[in-house]
Amino acid sequence: MTATVSEKQARQVAEAARESEWRKPSFGKELFLGRFRLDLIDPWPAAEERPDAEEFLAKLDAYVRSDVDGPRIEREARIPDEVFQGLAGLGAFGMKIDKKYGGLGLSNLHYCKALTLAGSVNPSIGALLSAHQSIGVPQPLKIFGTDEQKQKYLPRLAGGEVSAFLLTEPDVGSDPARLGTIAEPVEGGYKLNGVKLWATNGTVATLLVVMARVPDKGITAFVVEGDAEGITIERRNAFLGLRGLENSVTRFHDVFVPAENVIGGLGKGLKIALTTLNTGRLSLPAMCVGAGKWSLNVAREWSAERVQWGRAVGKHEAVAKKIAFIAATTYAMESMLDLCCLIADDDRNDIRIEAALVKLFASEMAWQVADELIQVRGGRGYETADSLAARGERAVEVEQLLRDLRINRIFEGSTEIMHLLIAREAVDAHLSVAGDIIDPDAGLGRKARAGAKAGAFYAKWLPTLAVGRGQVPNGYGEFGPLASHLRYVERASRKLARSTFYAMSRWQGKLERKQGFLGRIVDIGAELFAMSAVCVRARSERETRPEGVELADLFCRQARLRAEALFAALWDNTDSLDTKVAKRVLEGRYTFLEEGVVTSTSDAAWVATWEPGPSTAEDVRRRIPPPS
Ligand SMILES: Cc1cc2nc3c(=O)[nH]c(=O)nc-3n(C[C@H](O)[C@H](O)[C@H](O)COP(=O)(O)OP(=O)(O)OC[C@H]3O[C@@H](n4cnc5c(N)ncnc54)[C@H](O)[C@@H]3O)c2cc1C
Repeated sequence: MTATVSEKQARQVAEAARESEWRKPSFGKELFLGRFRLDLIDPWPAAEERPDAEEFLAKLDAYVRSDVDGPRIEREARIPDEVFQGLAGLGAFGMKIDKKYGGLGLSNLHYCKALTLAGSVNPSIGALLSAHQSIGVPQPLKIFGTDEQKQKYLPRLAGGEVSAFLLTEPDVGSDPARLGTIAEPVEGGYKLNGVKLWATNGTVATLLVVMARVPDKGITAFVVEGDAEGITIERRNAFLGLRGLENSVTRFHDVFVPAENVIGGLGKGLKIALTTLNTGRLSLPAMCVGAGKWSLNVAREWSAERVQWGRAVGKHEAVAKKIAFIAATTYAMESMLDLCCLIADDDRNDIRIEAALVKLFASEMAWQVADELIQVRGGRGYETADSLAARGERAVEVEQLLRDLRINRIFEGSTEIMHLLIAREAVDAHLSVAGDIIDPDAGLGRKARAGAKAGAFYAKWLPTLAVGRGQVPNGYGEFGPLASHLRYVERASRKLARSTFYAMSRWQGKLERKQGFLGRIVDIGAELFAMSAVCVRARSERETRPEGVELADLFCRQARLRAEALFAALWDNTDSLDTKVAKRVLEGRYTFLEEGVVTSTSDAAWVATWEPGPSTAEDVRRRIPPPS
């Protein structure tokens, strides 16, 4: 039931869904073009004064501390009904919904603070709240919904009904062009048929955003009642971590959806998904920030107390380096996230690149933080919290943290897909002037016109990459001890743009296949953005929190080493050889290496196929009763 799609068609679908216009300035876009526009993020934007939001956060804090039993959720692999009800009572399912629809109307900053807090008690709670409102029904309706849709659905969601977002299918992961769920036009609406995989909240949700293909119109987003006739929740899936997640396989068999439930117009589904994710992507880093703070706390208390070889383990240099990494990285993740939230809230900048960078950076770095924390804890890091408690020791869930964090590098855009997505934006200026030169389908006339346009653009742009404030000895002097780091960022930004330009000229249309190169370009951009964020924050807090400068300084030194290694690897790497050897692996050339171990003898399909039709599975939906 899946569409057969070539690589070219898959790219065209992704390209059509991309927001191609830039109506507002973008720090990230400029950075990749070699223009370090510090003025777009400095001074640190002021947070909106919101006493109501502060009051909500205080209540949430008190509630999750006293009434939510994180270890119980882990043990029972289930968030209890009363936690859903308690969160609903606080308004946590309406954090991002406008007040006029019964929500709290929180800013991105306060919303992310709430996710950081709630997710630190048990990450499944963070995932529940974030899937519900960052990608579930509230956000797409807020941006694209009609007044009627908003009035009909948002008050229900603000009151505590849970929503889910259903895009993925057994055969559709990173590549939505293969979408097989069909919405066939019928009298008064559409009839949905298909199977959706891995929908977070799918077992408990009473309202769904479903992505389905309308023949001749394209992928379309629908709001669907979770209890509509023809929907079967066939399975609740279980994972490495996030054990409390209510994640489903959902079958649609002749499910009628009224025409007025189309969100944002026919064929607009992927654009809606991507636009929703512009700010929606901030919720995963919010959880990563929580993980960093929690790790720092464990690292500090444990490493000061545990003595080996005559010293607290935190005083041995090898461990001290890990503690310093956790502290500096947590400071950076928080600075990047807060900055993204603030610039999203004041609405002056386009934040799509920055949000994507912080998702990429935080999901990768939080994973390293958790890994280092396990090492700092030694054998106890590998032991479960229950086992520690049974031996009479403090039950810290470090191994759980690692398991819970791992998915962040895969969902809401895997690291590989984030690299491509951000790289696409990084080279956008080049493609818009020179794209036709390298497009094999462009005729000679288009190529010639593009050549002239590109000539004019590069004649103006290239000289700007030669000099900048980063070369002036006391440039950015107002940043005191951090000035040298900003000078580095400015210089590195120009070098990054020169490298991208050089790669464009060298590989032309083949550049899009140079994923190793593009990934490094993006990772350098992420380090530079992180360095900028910590410097601007530390300076703005120099009176109230002068110690922040120390963390900013350390982070910049560590980030600079990583960036330099990435720059070197742009041109000195094993990318081509890796590709060649991987091809040979796939062809079976090295199967001798697999000998000597027991491998799976299963001949079950790697990807399950599905057929349309009524479900033969038992429905496993879970409905949360209203509070008594
Ligand atoms: C716990 C959990 C919760 C989820 N929640 C939801 C949800 O609420 N709603 C929803 O719709 N989906 C959800 N998903 C699905 C999730 O978004 C997908 O797993 C993700 O998009 C990756 O797709 P995939 O797993 O099919 O990987 P694949 O697309 O099969 O990719 C396999 C590997 O190849 C890489 N890859 C793929 N294409 C390329 C490319 N062009 N270039 C380079 N590398 C590439 C990937 O990065 C990955 O490493 C969830 C998944 C999990 C596990």
